[in-house]
Amino acid sequence: MKPQLIGGEWVTSPTTAPNINPSDTTDVIAEFAQADASQASDAVAAASDAFAAWSRGSIQRRSEILDAVGSELVARAPELGRLLAREEGKTLPEGVGEATRAGQVFKFFAGEALRISGESQRSVRPGVDVSVTREPLGVVALITPWNFPLAIPAWKAAAALACGNTVVLKPAELTPACAWALADIIQRAGAPAGVFNLVSGPGSVVGAALVEDARVGGVSFTGSTTTGARVGQACMARNARVQLEMGGKNPLVVLDDADLDLAVECAVNGAFYSTGQRCTASSRLIVTEAIHDRFVAALAERLRALVVGHALEDGVHIGPVVDQRQLDIDRAYIEIGEREGARLLTGGDLVSRPTAGHFLSPALFVDVDNSMRIAREEIFGPVAAVIRVRNFDEALAVANDTPYGLSAGICTGSLKHATAFRQEARAGMVMVNLPTAGVDPHVPFGGQKASSYGPREQGRYAAEFYTTVKTAYAFAG
Ligand code: ADP
Repeated sequence: MKPQLIGGEWVTSPTTAPNINPSDTTDVIAEFAQADASQASDAVAAASDAFAAWSRGSIQRRSEILDAVGSELVARAPELGRLLAREEGKTLPEGVGEATRAGQVFKFFAGEALRISGESQRSVRPGVDVSVTREPLGVVALITPWNFPLAIPAWKAAAALACGNTVVLKPAELTPACAWALADIIQRAGAPAGVFNLVSGPGSVVGAALVEDARVGGVSFTGSTTTGARVGQACMARNARVQLEMGGKNPLVVLDDADLDLAVECAVNGAFYSTGQRCTASSRLIVTEAIHDRFVAALAERLRALVVGHALEDGVHIGPVVDQRQLDIDRAYIEIGEREGARLLTGGDLVSRPTAGHFLSPALFVDVDNSMRIAREEIFGPVAAVIRVRNFDEALAVANDTPYGLSAGICTGSLKHATAFRQEARAGMVMVNLPTAGVDPHVPFGGQKASSYGPREQGRYAAEFYTTVKTAYAFAG
């Protein structure tokens, strides 16, 4: 049994749950301890006890610990990427890439730990000085989803720790193994007992207990819009700081003057890699009239050539859907799309492979209207909807006509349209001639409207969430 990490000790729980490989459901990776509310409370107590020494301790030591975590993640990226691909189902190269990125994030925040700065100003009152300093929140709870089981815990934990907070991580039920590996690495890198705690278990029990615990000063959540709303309300009810990263229905606009091959690659990558299970996935492809038919034909041909299969096999482009529940959701949306009058041009079929996995071929809908449910609701699977528009103005209007606002992309050769799109897109991230998914680890990540709440994650901006400012006045006498 893989235990919890609470107060520097590996602790078992009364119950366990198996971690199952979505590429081969007969492959059980390990049994993971399932915490209950009392273990969540123990983890918060341990993090509270560790806070004073960690927040006031040497920032040099803090930086060295984060750097050591980063080095081990990078050095072990091939192995950890394999574990990631095995438990989550993204392909091996994607898994290795994510593990490497998790390491890079820790290295970035190793530097940030030394750069937490404030301001010193003169007061408007003679003889008085004013300083503005950043202080950590205290104990922060990190609640993470299954789709980036290493990178998301890493980018939350590295930033939280760099700013001097202590951490309780509650990973997604489906992907506890990467979080466990991260906890083990942080512990061995020399984090003092209680500075980083791991409690795996059901969100409705463990996650809810963390969110409601008065000793938790901030909650950083990534997951579904429904759960995010619940987490947000619980935090606001008790005045805890909260950061929510939720869904997306990200548009990729393709204009007549786009480089066709580039646009097709952006769509394939953005909509279908990681099996479409990214909050930044391009699930709406908004295409102007003159390029529409060529784009759709080329994209469908590319999709038919993609190999769907076991995530660890060479030559596989698209791994399985993460579990049966998500597969059922994907297939239900495919039915909804057909009922709504959209035309399923290719894919959407269950794929049979030598192993028992949740394999679905990439589905492309055409003749989609932006008011259809498949164009409005996040599916979180390998399903994309092509929406035909007349011109740039209509493309921009359709792109922005969504409750969400995480990422928005455009493929065009026109500087004028690219610039206008960058300025007018109602999204936290804009991509020009690039897929909507795939972001750098050192710059802010987050969205507008229903996609995000609270300050951005990653990069220098992460400190906006993980610290609070104190304004101090002093009169020298
Ligand atoms: P998904 O539907 O993709 O699993 P969720 O939003 O349900 O997305 O899950 C994201 C994270 O939130 C997971 O770690 C999950 O365990 C956790 N979670 C689920 N329900 C709650 C809740 N009521 N309170 C706090 N965390 C929760």
